[in-house]
Amino acid sequence: MNSTCYIEEAEKNLLHTYNRYGILLEYGKGVYLFDTEGKKYLDFAAGIGVCALGYGNEEYNDALKEQVDKLLHTSNLYYNVPAIRAAELVKQASGMDRVFFTNSGAEAVEGAIKAAKKYAYTRDQHAGHEVIAMHGSFHGRTLGALSVTGNEGYQKPFGPLLPGVRFAEFNRLESVKEQITEHTCAIIMETIQGEGGIYPAEKEFIEGIARLCREKDILLILDEIQCGMGRSGEMFAWQNYDVKPDIMTTAKALGCGVPVGAFLMTERVAEKSLAPGDHGTTYGGNPFAGAAVAKTLELMKRDRMTEHVKEVSNYLWERLEELKERHACVAAHRGMGLMQGLQLDGQPAGEVSKKALAHGLILITAGCNVLRFLPPLIIEKEHVDEMTDILNRILSEEGRS
Ligand SMILES: *Cc1c(COP(=O)(O)O)cnc(C)c1O
Repeated sequence: MNSTCYIEEAEKNLLHTYNRYGILLEYGKGVYLFDTEGKKYLDFAAGIGVCALGYGNEEYNDALKEQVDKLLHTSNLYYNVPAIRAAELVKQASGMDRVFFTNSGAEAVEGAIKAAKKYAYTRDQHAGHEVIAMHGSFHGRTLGALSVTGNEGYQKPFGPLLPGVRFAEFNRLESVKEQITEHTCAIIMETIQGEGGIYPAEKEFIEGIARLCREKDILLILDEIQCGMGRSGEMFAWQNYDVKPDIMTTAKALGCGVPVGAFLMTERVAEKSLAPGDHGTTYGGNPFAGAAVAKTLELMKRDRMTEHVKEVSNYLWERLEELKERHACVAAHRGMGLMQGLQLDGQPAGEVSKKALAHGLILITAGCNVLRFLPPLIIEKEHVDEMTDILNRILSEEGRS
């Protein structure tokens, strides 16, 4: 069967929830992906920020193979060594105290909301607490996570959603203050908004929120699912600011391709939060996922990944600034670390990403017409040059047409 046949079959059988790019990917090596026809692509999307270690990392792959032969799953009724090791390493990396492993980002967000509600319930002895979330945010597609996702298009057909969610403007402290009531139990936000168009939290904003939360015993939930795991130049993006969340979520690069997420909290929250019987998952933190998390964190630490990200992301910043200077259609350049975006004006970002694919470059979009740069963290300057050369050519053609 050739790739066209496979794609036709996919369109017959899979629920049509994605308008997929018409390529059939087969394997990867380093920062390159190859399709079934042998065409090579430079990857600047990393499976939406997942494949931080790139493809074909031998140590990571060997750890998974070894675990497959030992034990895949036990359920959470028993202990297993890989999950215990993973928990210790993610605690070390984050400075948080307690971790609950999930199977996805959305599930981590669900757990984080439940943890905040339970904390307030224990304190006040009644339910009915509210959560403040941000316009333009993205926290996942399950009903709870969707309820705090500030995107009307995503929410509209699925109402009524979780009650007691109020929305504020990201990076406008006054707007958040206006939404606080005596019932507010948590403020949830991405440290760097991803899907919404690559908007890092401003320092005064996030530090102001943390202060507000401390004053009023409101829990700060930071969603680090996309911006965490070294991508910002620190292990977690909030470590670039003078803040610490009460609850934090992670997923995407946490397992570098094995589906796994987590929510973490401080001991102060854990003492009053989820207890036996309050929350659970069959798969979450199974030995296979645990092995992936433990090996990912081990390799990132040993190889000083955050140092590498700082260096190569500065270079990416410079090269994207050059493109912004050179092309009138580039309206803005934002981001932090290896999470950057170019906002286009008068050119559909989706068209540019399709052209990039034809030129052997995988690039995705975000929010309102933003090209999103989310490469594997192992990229080198030469890959940045390769990417910007291709993009420069595409934008030059677009400029003339
Ligand atoms: C991707 C993402 C999610 C959802 O994660 P899934 O694994 O797709 O459920 C939640 N929050 C943020 C910030 C994300 O980028």
